[in-house]
Amino acid sequence: MESRADNLQAIREGVRKLCADYPESYWRELDERRDYPDAFVKALTASGYLAALIPEEYGGAGLGITEASTILEEINHCGGNASACHAQMYIMGTLLRHGSAEQKQRYLPKIASGELRMQAFGVTEPNAGSETTRIETRAVRKGDNYIVNGQKIFISRVKQSDLMLLLARTTPYAELQDKTQGLSVFIVDLRDVRGSLEVRPLDLMINHHSNLLIFNDVEIPAGNLIGDEGRGFRYIIDGWNAERILIASEAIGDGRWFIEKATAYARDRVVFGRPIGANQGVQFPIAQAYAHIAAADLMRFDAAAKFDRHEKCGAEANMAKLLASEAAWEAANVCLNTHGGYGFAREFDVERKFRETRLYTTAPVNNNLVLAFVGQNVLGMPRSY
Ligand SMILES: Cc1cc2nc3c(=O)[nH]c(=O)nc-3n(C[C@H](O)[C@H](O)[C@H](O)COP(=O)(O)OP(=O)(O)OC[C@H]3O[C@@H](n4cnc5c(N)ncnc54)[C@H](O)[C@@H]3O)c2cc1C
Repeated sequence: MESRADNLQAIREGVRKLCADYPESYWRELDERRDYPDAFVKALTASGYLAALIPEEYGGAGLGITEASTILEEINHCGGNASACHAQMYIMGTLLRHGSAEQKQRYLPKIASGELRMQAFGVTEPNAGSETTRIETRAVRKGDNYIVNGQKIFISRVKQSDLMLLLARTTPYAELQDKTQGLSVFIVDLRDVRGSLEVRPLDLMINHHSNLLIFNDVEIPAGNLIGDEGRGFRYIIDGWNAERILIASEAIGDGRWFIEKATAYARDRVVFGRPIGANQGVQFPIAQAYAHIAAADLMRFDAAAKFDRHEKCGAEANMAKLLASEAAWEAANVCLNTHGGYGFAREFDVERKFRETRLYTTAPVNNNLVLAFVGQNVLGMPRSY
């Protein structure tokens, strides 16, 4: 019987093989054109990797977060950007855990086969920012529908998705005793929007396909409410540990890419009659960043193992995200420094990955809020919010 380590190795090799058809030049050209990696996402779906977390009964691979995170890690390790398609992996858990049997049957097999793409997650709002319980987008029940009005910001891949998971307010904030209640999760079918949903692309530092959304009397059938009305914030929180672990893994993949690029360049580039990597001022920062990536990776695997054993893993998942995003950013800077002026040349891909990996300290959750979780929920210090 194959061990889990063998399986992970097979996943790494399989993903690398798939990624070989989508080399760094593919991602660079997409970045320049601000295009979506459609061909890559189709290939990843066809290979079954994107449906890693969907249970076998719905046509997925039924694997754990350890395996899923390894898939995303390898995409970034190969020079790609798993952000283009990672959302499905962490949002379908909300549907899986809290959706009705009918909803799961309606959507999950089609998501697994690639017939439906669920890559959009509508949470962030201009006036609420990180304080999710302050969101204002209202969903008001009217007969068999909810009528949605409001705005969302930074919502990625809306134009590349068939389905969006939406968090909206169903009870006014002022009427709530418990401010974590009163929010609800819906599946929005983007192929058939009734009412007006304006999707305004944002011009961002990276190729992320993020948008401002303006809902004007958008109708969502009441049958698309997930779970109970008013408990949506709890359902979203339930998905946060998976999200943190997957993001940590992408950052680790980036970190490994930066270290390999930096090491190769430091060996080859000769200045003052010797390879620059022979200078400790060049060599030691690379070694230091490598050590930080390796340490973050241990925390990520610890979090993933606990998650897969259904144990509490909030502390580990948050710390993995914190450590991995910081280690990746350190590695990005080291790699850029090692390349000197060439680090700024697009053809080396360092500047693209440098921009891309910077996101992980900020989104989907800022590291300040991760530290607040550790300080307050793990160490029991007073709350700041
Ligand atoms: C490229 C990109 C893609 C994104 N995609 C999506 C998406 O698909 N769906 C979605 O819903 N959102 C998405 N987001 C939004 C992202 O999740 C938010 O930007 C992020 O959660 C932070 O919210 P904010 O930008 O409003 O920052 P704010 O909440 O305004 O925070 C600003 C700064 O203040 C700090 N801060 C705030 N409160 C505290 C506190 N109490 N203690 C300490 N520091 C604090 C923060 O850490 C941060 O440094 C995306 C963002 C980006 C940039």
